[in-house]
Amino acid sequence: MRALVLLDVDGVLNPRLAAGRLHVSPERAALVRELAELGRLVWATTYPSVLAHDLGEGIGLAERADAIAFPAELDADPDRPAPTPKLHWVRRWLGRQHYDRAVWIDDRLGADAAEWARAEASVHLVSPDPREGLLPSHVAEARAFLAGERA
Ligand SMILES: [Mg+2]
Repeated sequence: MRALVLLDVDGVLNPRLAAGRLHVSPERAALVRELAELGRLVWATTYPSVLAHDLGEGIGLAERADAIAFPAELDADPDRPAPTPKLHWVRRWLGRQHYDRAVWIDDRLGADAAEWARAEASVHLVSPDPREGLLPSHVAEARAFLAGERA
């Protein structure tokens, strides 16, 4: 099973920025390490990738996670803003990967993303409440999907 875990930062890990680096709580760092054991962790954040890589280092990830490169102007078509601006870029990135199942964890996933994920049996969306961020229940949800226990 080639599993991917796409992980947003703001609204999910809710880090604080101090001395030019992002920091998350030890509890949240433990959840991210759990996610990294479920599959290949990939940053899906609009933060500069250098900040995401530093964050991964601070969290204690065994491997340096890739980061999806998003353009500064997220809307693929500025004249028709999408409910989920990252969707276009995530789909494009996933189209170049070899994987069996993928989980995308982001606090901003709209109806367009939900519709796409319904059509793509290999993709499952996990959408934390940005005020709470990532919880153990979200990790359990990701684990169940990647283990094939839920469609
Ligand atoms: Mg977010």
